Amino acid sequence: MRLYIGLVHFPVYNKNEQRIASAVTPVDLHDLARIARTYGVRKLLVITPLKDQHGLVDRICDHWKFGFGASYNPQRKEAIELVSVASSLEDGVERIHATEGVTPFVLATDARKQNDNTLSFPDARAMIRQDRVVLLLFGTAWGLDQEVLQGSNAVLEPVMGADGYNHLPVRAAAAIILDRLVGTKTDIVRELSG
Ligand code: SAM
Repeated sequence: MRLYIGLVHFPVYNKNEQRIASAVTPVDLHDLARIARTYGVRKLLVITPLKDQHGLVDRICDHWKFGFGASYNPQRKEAIELVSVASSLEDGVERIHATEGVTPFVLATDARKQNDNTLSFPDARAMIRQDRVVLLLFGTAWGLDQEVLQGSNAVLEPVMGADGYNHLPVRAAAAIILDRLVGTKTDIVRELSG
């Protein structure tokens, strides 16, 4: 499986639908890294153009990879080793290309259904199982800018809740989505696959 995750901090929306660069949230790194490791993701790319945020990510990761944290919690070390910083989405795509020899299929996620380029869970699952190189993008702040959603190869169908409210924290969205896309088949996936 050649699946990558990108956590996008720019361009994303703020509350007023303005394009911003969001700040890195340390718990996202810890939790998404563990989720990535659990589901066999090759790298978690933290995408931000802000140099001070690169420093923050490096400091956190170095603590768990090489500092006291490495011996204190080896499982966290193993997960945090998947984290890597990219300056932009293009930079992330280029890095994956350099590693895999092909350009990844960029699959964005969003709580709203996009009309023109939506990919279903079963189709996305099949693509990943066919060993396509896939970069799965998640947003921060108020979500991915339209430029990212429209510039991606597809947008995954949203996770729907029980009654129309479906604004999940990014860490929960990632865990649910990865379980549907690559997890050992559960009843819900069997049902989605038909
Ligand atoms: N500040 C929030 C937090 O602490 O998690 C970030 C919200 S951010 C908009 C959540 C991201 O998770 C979205 O950009 C999207 O990538 C994903 N997400 C959230 N709800 C989703 C849903 N129902 N279906 C698919 N993806 C979803």
